[in-house]
Amino acid sequence: MNPIAFIRKNILALQPYSTARDDFKGGDISVWLDANESPYSNGVNRYPDPHQRKVKEQVAALFGAPAESIFLGGAGSDEAIDLVYRIFCTPGCDNAVAITPSYGVYRVAADINDIKLREIELDPGFGLPVDRILDSTDSLTKVIWLCSPNNPTGNAFERADMLRIADRFNGMVVIDEAYADFSSRGSMINDIATHPNIIILRTFSKAWGLAGMRCGMAFADPRVIAYFDRVKYPYNMSSLIQQELLRRIAEGTGNHIAETVAERNRVASALACAPCVDTVYPSEANFLLVKVSDPDRIYRLLTDNGVIVRNRSRLPMCDGSLRITIGTPDENTRLINLFSKFER
Ligand SMILES: *Cc1c(COP(=O)(O)O)cnc(C)c1O
Repeated sequence: MNPIAFIRKNILALQPYSTARDDFKGGDISVWLDANESPYSNGVNRYPDPHQRKVKEQVAALFGAPAESIFLGGAGSDEAIDLVYRIFCTPGCDNAVAITPSYGVYRVAADINDIKLREIELDPGFGLPVDRILDSTDSLTKVIWLCSPNNPTGNAFERADMLRIADRFNGMVVIDEAYADFSSRGSMINDIATHPNIIILRTFSKAWGLAGMRCGMAFADPRVIAYFDRVKYPYNMSSLIQQELLRRIAEGTGNHIAETVAERNRVASALACAPCVDTVYPSEANFLLVKVSDPDRIYRLLTDNGVIVRNRSRLPMCDGSLRITIGTPDENTRLINLFSKFER
């Protein structure tokens, strides 16, 4: 399967913008008069590397993937989601398929790009409905969105099921692994080699604790990444962020992932005993989906006590449910204490 076959005709034909730094082919330069920059040094007077070569080298080592298979987004993985539509889906014509409930950006980005999104409800127990997803596709379906571990349900899907979709679908399958760092299952980045129609999304926003920096990643076949590079804004990651990211990658995530996972399990057990809680769904992420007796009332009681969670009770299959991010141990204890006092 050649993923280039799924790229829009106008994108295949695109003559991409060539930056001053692209035109420069190397040599011993000490006077830079090619980009209409200010010559007065202040740390940011020069344009950043549009290809983020140094950062990609570090990200490649971190994930064990070739640098040519990496896209870096300076507006988080949301930038990669929008690019997928722009590269593969012709507005007003093509469609995409997503699971529901899942991450809301797949729909918003579809609406912005005038792409019809078909949302397929998960199986009972939040399982992946492989056959219903495949049956919902037609010749104009270019992309299938999967998210594992899934937001907001917290569960991860079977790798074999996701590969079955990639095997049988004649288009791109995006697997959003924003929460993979908290899951005991491995990443599917290595499956790109055998399934070149897979795109994996990762982010520095969750396990790396860098949500404010807006750094997302897409891993895909290098032929696909070449089109991400052509369609993205040329300087889509500032030099400040590139420098900071290099520093943070060298620092690592510390022990926060292990602590978050341990806290998730502690909060899950404690909330399961609270009188107002019906179900704490199993989670492989840094949040819990919790079904309570009266979500609007519990939500209000929490905010009255200075604690905010996400009320997801109006999403499909999430009747009665709140999505609760795992905080610091102290914050979690405060949450548990509040829950134990709420009546049914
Ligand atoms: C949080 C989240 C992201 C990350 O988005 P960024 O733009 O990288 O901050 C991506 N996908 C899902 C499902 C998420 O929950």
